[in-house]
Amino acid sequence: MDGSNPLSTFPSVLDHRHPDAPAGVDLDKCVHCGLCLNACPTYRELGVEMDSPRGRIYQMVQVATGQVEPGPSYYEHLDLCLGCRSCESACPSGVPYGRLIEAARTEIVATRPQTRSERLLRWFIYRRLLPSRVLMKIFGAMLYLYEASSLRRIVQGSGVLKLMGKLGRVEPLAPSAEAPFFFDNIGRVFPAIGPKRARVAFHAGCISNVFFARLNEATVRVLQHNGCEVVIPEKQCCCGALHAHAGERDLARGLARRNIDAFLTSGADAFVTNTAGCGATLKEYHELLEHDPDYAAKSRLFVDQMRDVLEFLAEIGVAPGMAMMPVTVTYQDSCHLLHGQKIRNAPRVLLNAIPGVQLRELPQSEICCGSAGTYNVVHDEMAAALLETKMANVNLTRAQILTTANPGCMIQLRAGVERHGQRQRVLHVIELLDEAYRKAGTPRS
Ligand code: SF4
Ligand code: SF4
Repeated sequence: MDGSNPLSTFPSVLDHRHPDAPAGVDLDKCVHCGLCLNACPTYRELGVEMDSPRGRIYQMVQVATGQVEPGPSYYEHLDLCLGCRSCESACPSGVPYGRLIEAARTEIVATRPQTRSERLLRWFIYRRLLPSRVLMKIFGAMLYLYEASSLRRIVQGSGVLKLMGKLGRVEPLAPSAEAPFFFDNIGRVFPAIGPKRARVAFHAGCISNVFFARLNEATVRVLQHNGCEVVIPEKQCCCGALHAHAGERDLARGLARRNIDAFLTSGADAFVTNTAGCGATLKEYHELLEHDPDYAAKSRLFVDQMRDVLEFLAEIGVAPGMAMMPVTVTYQDSCHLLHGQKIRNAPRVLLNAIPGVQLRELPQSEICCGSAGTYNVVHDEMAAALLETKMANVNLTRAQILTTANPGCMIQLRAGVERHGQRQRVLHVIELLDEAYRKAGTPRS
């Protein structure tokens, strides 16, 4: 057997394509069985084959084999994909859909003509803002002032948002900048509390340093309570997940090299992130850099040590010392933890380890909430429809706290509570652990 799909009826993939275009060997794994269809949020919502995983793969094959020229319809159907990778979990043939959609988007970005403003916006976001600590700080400070002054309330009350179309519709989704930002902790080392069990290097993200500074602090504290010395490598940078998802794989590679150098020299036993979306990309650096002679081996070493923080804590066994938390809790699986990293049990194990917590399973917790990076901004109508269904299920559980494992999901679910909820609190699992330790008054460093 040469590993190719014996049912394939497609001619050979064209050999003059972009080097990052979907690989024939990946496309050929799809046997068009359709077992993934019901797992796909966009197919469930629209019932359209071309907006299903099988349909999207079929379109990629048509483009790859030169049967169809890529055009607006191809771009639209691929663009409407959330990249949630739920289809990957459902697929019995092992189709690496996440890799395929990233590759297809990379080819599209490289070949589709862009307007000047599109080019400028992409250049600013992907090349300038996300990789730069200085610009992120300035951006965060501006947002903080916008919120802290009465400007946001004036804008929201003035009716001007209604005139701004999509921008006005998505403005309420904008998370709050959390001063003081987490940037000042980068480069620091936090001691373990109690006997030291491990030295851990924490990836603090890029946007999270501004919008989830308290979550990052909670993560460090929980690791300390669990006997970890926490180092936050000075030279770390944005993981490149947003770049890779948006078809900017070369930029993602540059960021990956910087992170690999920063973390491999940290002397840590494990590298952790609290962001499932980042974690999925950080764990796939070896795929991004497989053809880089200087980083192929180093990226595999890096990936071997990379863990989601919930995965890591479940592995080492969570330390006692938590207070009784008599609350009902449900858990929304973050797509990039469940489908991207195949981690289902760890968050549930940790929630069940908190004394008093009553965990209620969320129906369809494996289906995306509509967040998906910037998807809830770009495709706000589809995202809103998915969120409405999600919140109907959340309300069925009657849980007081809705937990998840990714900041992007938290933003979307908070908007969901606002629009359709029952005043549930939305927390990262690590924040509930942190509350339990703090309530018990477990000694702090
Ligand atoms: S990644 Fe998600 S939205 Fe995209 S095809 Fe797969 S299941 Fe559907
Ligand atoms: S992606 Fe997998 S499940 Fe979906 S049609 Fe192809 S082989 Fe079947």
